[in-house]
Amino acid sequence: MSLEGEYDDQNIFAKILRREASAIIVHEDDDTMTFMDVFPQSRGHVLIVPKSPARNILEIEDAPLQALIVQVKRVAKAVEKALNPDGVFVGQFNGAEAGQTVHHIHFHVIPRYKGRDMGRHGEDRADDEALKKLADDIGIALSELD
Ligand code: AMP
Repeated sequence: MSLEGEYDDQNIFAKILRREASAIIVHEDDDTMTFMDVFPQSRGHVLIVPKSPARNILEIEDAPLQALIVQVKRVAKAVEKALNPDGVFVGQFNGAEAGQTVHHIHFHVIPRYKGRDMGRHGEDRADDEALKKLADDIGIALSELD
């Protein structure tokens, strides 16, 4: 898929938002959903998606983008609080050529730990129970933010 084209409402994140596909949800509000990446590149890899349909940053409206980026910041803070990483990567891809594989805009929040390389994109499926524990811990940290 190139940057040209239409939003496809059968993408996996649209299905997660409609509860047609399962996800390990960390948090949900009127504008965004935050859930665990099931092929994490690091322990605690989280995705944040807007509820409004847009493929990428080039086409999302300003208001949902604002809500999205504020939630990204909150999730980064919660990940830092819950998991005590040495750094936090925040990233976002636009178009297949840039590395985007799911064409509903999303941000990655990926904790980084000294001496541990980031795993390859979308490679190893994590254990659901381990992801649920991480989601709980990050969700609690989120609820404790100001
Ligand atoms: P991107 O390349 O930025 O489009 O990344 C899509 C991300 O979604 C990858 O990191 C995948 O591991 C992740 N992913 C794909 N399917 C699912 C799913 N069903 N639940 C959670 N994460 C997913």
